[in-house]
Amino acid sequence: MDYRSHARRKTGGLCRPSCSPEKTRKEVVSKGSGGMEVILSSLENTRDLQTTLNILGILNELLNVGGGRRTGVFVSKGGTAILLQLLVSSGKDPPANEELMLLIHSLLIKVGPKDKKFGVKARLNGALNVTVNLVKHNLQNFKLLLPCLQVLRVYSSNSVNAVSLGKSGALEIMFEIIGPFSKKSTTLLKVTLDTLASLLKSGMNARRAVDRGYLPTLLTIYQDWHRNDTRHRHVVIRKSILGCIKNLTNIKLGRKAFIDSNGMRILYNASTECLPVRTLDPLVNTSSLIMRKCFPKNRLPLPTIKSVFLHPLPHVPAGGPVAQLYNQPPGVDDVVDESDENEATEVDTENDTENEEDETGHKSQNDDIETDINKLRPRQISMRPFDELRVYEHFCREFTENFEDNDFESPRSVIPLLSVNPELHRSIIIPTTPTSSGPQNRRSPQGDALPPKSDGSPLELDSISISKSPDGKSDCDLVYSLGRLVLDGGVNGGSVDGSQEDGGEQAELEVPDTAALLPLHDPDLYLEMVKSTRSVPGYTEVAYPDYFGHVALNLREPILERVYGVQRMKIFQDIERLIHPSDILDKVVYDLDNQSCPVIDNGESLKFNSKFESGNLRKAIQVRKFEYDLILNSDINSNHYHQWFYFEVGNMRPGVRYRFNIINCEKSNSQFNYGMQVLMYSVQDAINGRPQWVRTGSDICYYKNNFSRSSIAAGGQKGKSYFTMTFTVTFQHKDDVCYFAYHYPYTYSMLKMHLQKLSALRTAQIYYRQDDLCETLGGNSCPLLTITAMPESSSNDHISQFRSRPVVFLSARVHPGETNSSWVMKGTLEYLMSCSPQAQSLRESYIFKIIPMLNPDGVINGNHRCSLSGEDLNRQWQSPNAELHPTIYHAKSLLQYLRATGRTPLVFCDYHGHSRKKNVFMYGCSIKETVWQTNVNTSTCDLQEDLGYRTLPKLLSQMAPAFSLSSCSFVVERSKEATARVVVWREIGVQRSYTMESTLCGCDQGKYKGLQIGTNELEEMGAQFCLALLRLRRFTSPLELHNHNSHLVDMDNDLIDTRSIPNVTSHTTYVLDEDEPAFLEEVDYSAESNDDNDPDLDPDLQDNHALLDPSSDSEFSHQDSLN
Ligand SMILES: [Zn+2]
Repeated sequence: MDYRSHARRKTGGLCRPSCSPEKTRKEVVSKGSGGMEVILSSLENTRDLQTTLNILGILNELLNVGGGRRTGVFVSKGGTAILLQLLVSSGKDPPANEELMLLIHSLLIKVGPKDKKFGVKARLNGALNVTVNLVKHNLQNFKLLLPCLQVLRVYSSNSVNAVSLGKSGALEIMFEIIGPFSKKSTTLLKVTLDTLASLLKSGMNARRAVDRGYLPTLLTIYQDWHRNDTRHRHVVIRKSILGCIKNLTNIKLGRKAFIDSNGMRILYNASTECLPVRTLDPLVNTSSLIMRKCFPKNRLPLPTIKSVFLHPLPHVPAGGPVAQLYNQPPGVDDVVDESDENEATEVDTENDTENEEDETGHKSQNDDIETDINKLRPRQISMRPFDELRVYEHFCREFTENFEDNDFESPRSVIPLLSVNPELHRSIIIPTTPTSSGPQNRRSPQGDALPPKSDGSPLELDSISISKSPDGKSDCDLVYSLGRLVLDGGVNGGSVDGSQEDGGEQAELEVPDTAALLPLHDPDLYLEMVKSTRSVPGYTEVAYPDYFGHVALNLREPILERVYGVQRMKIFQDIERLIHPSDILDKVVYDLDNQSCPVIDNGESLKFNSKFESGNLRKAIQVRKFEYDLILNSDINSNHYHQWFYFEVGNMRPGVRYRFNIINCEKSNSQFNYGMQVLMYSVQDAINGRPQWVRTGSDICYYKNNFSRSSIAAGGQKGKSYFTMTFTVTFQHKDDVCYFAYHYPYTYSMLKMHLQKLSALRTAQIYYRQDDLCETLGGNSCPLLTITAMPESSSNDHISQFRSRPVVFLSARVHPGETNSSWVMKGTLEYLMSCSPQAQSLRESYIFKIIPMLNPDGVINGNHRCSLSGEDLNRQWQSPNAELHPTIYHAKSLLQYLRATGRTPLVFCDYHGHSRKKNVFMYGCSIKETVWQTNVNTSTCDLQEDLGYRTLPKLLSQMAPAFSLSSCSFVVERSKEATARVVVWREIGVQRSYTMESTLCGCDQGKYKGLQIGTNELEEMGAQFCLALLRLRRFTSPLELHNHNSHLVDMDNDLIDTRSIPNVTSHTTYVLDEDEPAFLEEVDYSAESNDDNDPDLDPDLQDNHALLDPSSDSEFSHQDSLN
């Protein structure tokens, strides 16, 4: 039945010997492209039908073999136009010669995809209508119909052609061909559907199709095939039908028609039946994509996405983020489905793909590298005048002290802070005699208090309220009443929460005895610290984990392996909400916007709370019996940035699987898709001897949901979708109170407690001083520590050695959500205060200036990224404002002071956490590596730069198991030009200026490979950082230490293989937000947006060949054999 062999037979018989196909082929082969010219010229000039047929037959054979090369030659010699003209001239007077048309179209199928201007040429030559008419008049003539449809499909990949074909009635013709399920002519059906899908990419055609009611038709056809194709032999056809629906639903009208035609339920039901058969995954994935696209976009169930709590600023800079935020029109959060705003524009409706991140993430790859050499060179402009900087001398008293009054034998006499400037020291009152409003025996060593679970029943968890007298003086009055720790504001214990009046049923609370394991923790001291911590909402409660403390697990917590299909299952459950709305409870159980939100205590709902330091849950909605939607509060004075979370859950049933969905996540991907779990703290477990945060949760995944915000609210041109982070938890205990957090919490009050405890570790050898760098916008102090070794004596030599120690400047937690940076900092501080000989040697080597928490207000108020000014403080280092960014302003000024007095730090390092990468790594600054990355001309290679910046990361990679050198980068990016690292490098002149990033998830190399990170590993990292500094000291020349402002030969070179420098880029990973390897589910996810049946891609060329092949059905039988 092959028309080609048929044609050959026929032409062979009629052809004169002089132009036998064999001879011509030889000619062509021998003369190369010259032969093609001969053939084309003959084709163009002959008026004889048989000759034309012969030549076309030869061309068909020629282009069938020899791959794309010959087709390329054909195109380059103008063959396309000759063919199209032949088509048009022959089509003028119907009925056209069938064999001629067959040959022309089969050639066009081959030529079209290889000719970039094919669409335009076809239109200009007037070929579109010839083919359309042929199709119209040959609906029963499959032999001719098939190649004509294929050519139509190639035509329609040009959007103008698609519109024109639509006007010529092509859509209607397609629907005449598509019929109900039939095992006959499946090839024709597949081609028709793919042509239709191609036509429907045009928005105009899609509207036309919707207007004619084709969407319900397609749904019916899909159902028909779904029902009848029981052996799944025709998955490709079913997929092609979905392809048409997918393109139709790119327009708003199509989505509406889909919903109106009950499309959700139809595709949902079909997909549910397909789920068990793995080979039907393409159908399930495409259906899921369509359903998610059609799922009506919704605004979050909130009055506004602006943060619940506002903090008045001393001044609001016009044009700043806060001014913008509060000048927004009301109702700005309302969702606008902007995709159809301009209905006239064609195509490009694929804006629902999952690749938004590319805009922010991958764009940076080359565009973001700083190419302005002047911006890469050090500069010291914008230094404040020294007279202004002189006040910072106060923070550097160690450089002027004489130590003459100190008795170097007695440890008590060496507290420089108190002797020098007592009023700066914030004294903390620790009550010695507790008052008596409640049971006090929390430690109950004598058994006065009932030990928990002594009778086998679970302890009822009640709260501890601490009364604070109105003048702020505390008397640590502990009352155990209900539910939670409450810092009580009233004199007589008038509690904040009315439900806590009932003091009669006070249970006794056993505080886990963690003193031996947590030397820096003390619950009483913690409560004291909380009292002086000022939060914007005025928190009066204390979370149990912060009160009890966290003892790191000795267990290994492996990075979770993802189970295939979890994400899809979750998405289907979300779709069920629309299909079965009556199953949805929609019961608000916690709402910060409505403080009087009734807490319905019928035992059927979980109780939520996060009104404590670092908490940030805004709303909890029970959607099903055991499923809750959670909404996080925006960073204060902003309308987004949330990612961090910390909240409390009570009233749970043990042994039941609860699903939690945080529905207003913003980033387009998360380590939750790569094995990271949430952290949970059970109070029952704590009391029973396991006071610890544990990685928990199953079925964790992170995906785009149907909530979005308006473009204005999102600050961009497009409305932005939110993402859901979902996890499932089974609670172990009845009447437990559990806490969930994004990462191990570390509050500001905890820092103050740790500093108290650390200062008590002072010995005669340790110089430790705590100053208040400044007060924050929220009225909290920002501690600045100075740690070094006391001079051996007050002799001139020793004082001189003391004063000549280089400065190491460290900071952390500018980003409140990056609690891991605080745990690393804790490890550093503990090491610095330890009594090992190495620690002493380290203290004798350097003077440490440390700001352990650059953003206390953000931490206290549960922010993820910003300070109370609604801004990212790590983007303010270029020109910090003294009022709005006090911690940055004063930290930078202190650095300027150090520089001005010849004490430019040897090392600056700002500790951070990284939400998307594994391991611990550093970002540094190098002119050369930046220049190399940009591939700018090599003339810049004469730049002088010593390689000292590589030493510390290199040492860390040798010493710290979590550290990965290959993740480090020393490229200066434009987007980072206002960060601490870059500004301290450029403006202060610190060559070793770093950001140290610790993973929130875990490690994929080294000793901890495959494990999630815990506080032990983070603290170890902080200690190893100290040890690396000690080794750095040995690798750094004394000359440099004394004159480290000047440019000197770097002694670090013996550490670095200098030969590797020309290839240095290969050792450096460019800073990418996303560098995760693809994994099973990811493929599944992206398959939804990248239709693998894209008609414009090469595989379809093979498709075409296969269809022209006598055994063309083999393609489909292949598919069948897969089933
Ligand atoms: Zn950060």
